[in-house]
Amino acid sequence: MVGDHCTFSGDSAAKHSQRSTKSGLSCKMVLQAVGKVLRKSKTKPNGKKPSTEEKKPYLEPEHTKVRVVDFQLKELVVLPPEIDLNEWLASNTTTFFNLINLQYSTISEFCTGDTCQAMTACNTIYYWYDERGKKTKCTAPQYVDFVMSMVQKLVTDEEIFPTKYGKEFPNSFESLVKKICRYLFHVLAHIYWAHFSQTVALDLQGHLNTLYMHFMVFVREFNLVDPKETTIMDDLSEALSAPPSPTAHNHVTER
Ligand SMILES: [Zn+2]
Repeated sequence: MVGDHCTFSGDSAAKHSQRSTKSGLSCKMVLQAVGKVLRKSKTKPNGKKPSTEEKKPYLEPEHTKVRVVDFQLKELVVLPPEIDLNEWLASNTTTFFNLINLQYSTISEFCTGDTCQAMTACNTIYYWYDERGKKTKCTAPQYVDFVMSMVQKLVTDEEIFPTKYGKEFPNSFESLVKKICRYLFHVLAHIYWAHFSQTVALDLQGHLNTLYMHFMVFVREFNLVDPKETTIMDDLSEALSAPPSPTAHNHVTER
């Protein structure tokens, strides 16, 4: 009965969708021009990492203070009374999949086999393991496509994410949710690492920061991703954990 409990999340996803789509359309011309500049700029080398001092623009206070909400995300993720844990995990996981997919779509035209020859985040390269367990090096867009296709298949499988009344969740449900969250984290980390400048050009860093923290608070609450996996982004998580300053740029109140 996932559908019964995702009204709030569904509405939230729809609003994000409308907002991002609107932003995406109105910015399309600007974005194309910005994209051409960014592709040629030093901060966008062909598959090479930026120099040390340019490594993490997403840690700059001018960016980390930008959010679309300024309340405690923890209140959003704790299991509400009377709601089944698996149903809560299912509805949230499905929502994060949709939102992260949407966030990636805003920069996907910049994430190509040329610009992102490997799925990188900080000093890590993620390799894809196919259904036979064979390790494969692939480009970032291929990796993201593998992730999104795999997650789409799982969350729409009635045997794994049941929506019909009385249908039980499988024994493997929690491990599959953990697997999904681990891969969604890779996508978020790649957006920050390789596409933050384009996200800023679109003025969507507030959405990205809020989505990232909401996701991290959720996976921590239910121990869904091994902390070793998320260590590479600990500096960002720490910076975003600080309450935004009163003068922070707040997208909600401006729009
Ligand atoms: Zn990329």
